[in-house]
Amino acid sequence: MGVAEALQRLYERIHEVCLRVGRDPGEVRLMGVSKFHERDALEEAWKGGLRLFGENRVQEAGRKFPAFKQDHPRTELHMIGSLQRNKARAAVALFDGIQSVDRDELIAELGTLTLGRERPLMVLLELHTGEASKAGYPDVEHLFGAAERVLQFPNLIIRGLMTMAPFTEDREIIRRSFRSLAAARDKLKVRFPDCDWSCLSMGMSNDFEIALEEGATLLRIGTALFGERKP
Ligand SMILES: *Cc1c(COP(=O)(O)O)cnc(C)c1O
Repeated sequence: MGVAEALQRLYERIHEVCLRVGRDPGEVRLMGVSKFHERDALEEAWKGGLRLFGENRVQEAGRKFPAFKQDHPRTELHMIGSLQRNKARAAVALFDGIQSVDRDELIAELGTLTLGRERPLMVLLELHTGEASKAGYPDVEHLFGAAERVLQFPNLIIRGLMTMAPFTEDREIIRRSFRSLAAARDKLKVRFPDCDWSCLSMGMSNDFEIALEEGATLLRIGTALFGERKP
């Protein structure tokens, strides 16, 4: 199955799940996670209507995306992997959003680097909800602190939260992970009512239907769109 066909199928499945659980499919965005995939795959996805891409390494994104964005200016590119401080400058130049904001030092770094920027940098705060790598803030209290921090910087704009569910076959454990992200978002909304918390980035190829059932508004899909990765 080619990328265009896979994309069509994904849109159909998203539509079906949304209708089944009474959600508006129009509030769900699909991100193509293009790590380890090259230009031809990006082009195919673009032709199929995809505009949002995700990469988890600064170096790889820096190799692939500047030229692609030049040819397709409406491309939106987000960083979804763990971001080291010494890569923050390059990341700010390359990405439209950082989904994997997981510690206060990184917020300070990104905030400072974006001070002279024209367009604000969109950020999501990452919550650790059980995934083995331990990336992400540990709990809602820490997210409150992180949000305060982001608000100190004029060119960082909060859009919501991100998480990765644990790698397990147990659907209930995955569901619990997504539920805790949605619950955290509800608490942040009460505490910071003037911020936009509408983005819930959760769900990958193997668990996006559960994520949709639990309120995901941004799905990060790699394998089910581009095929297996060959690192
Ligand atoms: C690789 C990756 C994805 C996509 O994973 P698939 O299972 O291939 O869909 C999503 N989110 C993050 C953070 C990733 O690193």
